[in-house]
Parts: sequence; structure tokens; C-alpha cells
Amino acid sequence: MSAPNSSYDPVEVTALKADQVDAMVSAALAAVAAARDLDGLKAVRSAHAGDRSPLALANREIGALPPQARKDAGMRVGRARSAVNQALAARAVELEAEAEARMLVEETVDVTLPWDREPRGARHPLTTLQELVGDVFVAMGWEVAEGPELEAEWLNFDALNLGPDHPARTMQDTFWLEPADGGLVLRTHTSPVQARTMLERTPPIYVVCPGRVFRTDELDATHTPVFNQVEGLVVDRGITMAHLKGTLDHFAEAMFGEGITTRFRPSYFPFTEPSAEVDLVCFVCRGQEPAVATCRTCKGEGWIEWGGCGVVNPRVLTACGVDAETYTGFAFGMGLERTLMFRHGVGDMRDLVEGDVRFTEAFGTEIS
Ligand SMILES: [Zn+2]
Repeated sequence: MSAPNSSYDPVEVTALKADQVDAMVSAALAAVAAARDLDGLKAVRSAHAGDRSPLALANREIGALPPQARKDAGMRVGRARSAVNQALAARAVELEAEAEARMLVEETVDVTLPWDREPRGARHPLTTLQELVGDVFVAMGWEVAEGPELEAEWLNFDALNLGPDHPARTMQDTFWLEPADGGLVLRTHTSPVQARTMLERTPPIYVVCPGRVFRTDELDATHTPVFNQVEGLVVDRGITMAHLKGTLDHFAEAMFGEGITTRFRPSYFPFTEPSAEVDLVCFVCRGQEPAVATCRTCKGEGWIEWGGCGVVNPRVLTACGVDAETYTGFAFGMGLERTLMFRHGVGDMRDLVEGDVRFTEAFGTEIS
């Protein structure tokens, strides 16, 4: 930069040459227009409006001019720099908008695209049914009780009045753990949970016991060596068969719909006296003429076997430490598989145990 002087050569001072200043502006505006993105614009700003840019250098020369030339040159360079800065600002707004629009397009998530084609499995319908059964009884103020699947022989049989010579204890029905005289079995029913409950607490007792049980059956369309039961037990003062009937009617309606009630048929179980088989009104024909005559579900009976029940045998109460003079109770039990097959029209028991995800997914209980 030169010091102010009075003898200057106008030809040598850029700021005084309108065509040169105009050329700088034109070059700057062309560069601004050509910038394709914000990084490119940053380089243009540095080249055409930065401290080392031609217009900045021309501006510096103004200070060295004599006063009479300074005003004219100052206005010219000032307008030129202003024009370039405005163009830079306007282009910056455009490029930012373009960058944002591009980002919206590139980072868009199409929520309608299939996101995962891997089968994830589903909750097994037996699990959801077991929870539903629990809900039905909890809503009546009952508790859900659970116990071990590996059970003491005494709790599985003796406490429930199944004497040493009872046929259910033989090798044909029961999985015994080695050594054979070790007194341990895979529980053959959920009834030992009832025995445990009576031993652990004092009446009133209102419990429902769902769980897995084991018997030495071959797997076929109607049998499986591992299946699920739900049993219920009530021990309280003044409990009668009528309470049992009302409870099972409510349970049946909760499972199979309004109007599906139960009937009892006399039967025998060691742990209840009297004992009864529980039948359901056929949920297909509802036992009504003329449909019942040709109904294949109940084979014209109008009723379908569901489970067993009865008034708790006083010998069981006594074995489990309950005062049989003061308290009475009822118990019932049914297979969850059978209940599920009725509810959903599942024809083959094997579908319930084979773990095919196509079966479980059909129940609409997918998890992720
Ligand atoms: Zn029927």
C-alpha cells in the first residue's frame, strides 16, 4: 500500500477504473452463481470478498488517493463490494435450502417398506391362554400358585390320597427319576401345587394352578407326554358343590362365550369325594335341536368332556394340615391343550408341541 500523495497516476489506480471494478464484480457474481454447494460458496467468498480479494485490495488503494479522487473511488468500490456480498448472501440462502431439501429426500424413512422379513416367532397360544385363565380367576379375587415340575412322590401321590397301590403310580404313567427309589417324579398333575399351598398357608384358600405336567404317553393327535393343566382349589368354611358349579359355569363362559355352561357326571377321583366329570355345552350346536343330531363336534351328545372336579376329600385336607372339621373345599382340573383346541378349533395335538412358528403366528400374538 502506498502513502497518500498528491501526484498520482489515475491510470495506475484500480479503484478509479470503472471497467476494472465492473470486471471484478462480474467475475465474482459468475463465481457465486457457479458455486454448487456451501463449501464451494465458502471458497468463492474467500476469493472474491476476502481480505486478499481484488476488491479488498482495490479498497485499500483508496486511502492513498488524494481527497478529490477518494469519494468517487470509494463509492464505486463500496457499491461493488456490496453487490458481491449481497450475491453471496442470496446464494447462501439458496444453497442452504437445497442442502436441506436434499437431506430430507436422502434421509427419508419410508415407514411402509417391509422392514424385516425374518420370522421372529410368536408367543405360544398356550402361554397366552394360561395368562387369560389366570386373569379370569384373579378377577374373582383368587391367586395364581405355582410349583416345581420335579416333585416329591409324596406330594404328587400320597398327599392326594393316591395310595401306594394306585395304578397311576406305575411305570406306565409316571416318569420316575433315577434312582428309582429316590422318591422323585416329574409331576403327573398340578395337584401337588394344591397340596403345597395347603401345607404353607391357612384357609381361606382360593388358588388357581396352571402348569406343565408329564405322563408317559406317546405323542399322537390327542396325546402328548408333556401337557399343561389348570387346576383350582378352594378351602374355606361352608364350601359346597354349588360353589364349585357356579365357579365352573363362570369359567366356561369366560373361555367359550355366553351361554356355554357345564354339567356334572358322577365319577371317581382319589382326592375328591364326591367327584364329577365336567362337561361343556357343545359350543358348536349348543345342544339344540336339530343341529345337535348331526353335530360332529359333540357327536350328537350336546355336551363335551372338559375336565374333572369334586369336593376335596377330607383325607387330603387332613394330610395337608387343614382342619377337616372346620373347613371344606372344592377342586377342579382340566387340560389347557384341550381347552385351547376347543377355543380355536385346533384339530391335532401335535401342532401345539412342535413349535412351528407358522402355527403360533396364526394366533396373532407376534412379538418383536
Ligand atoms: Zn354339538
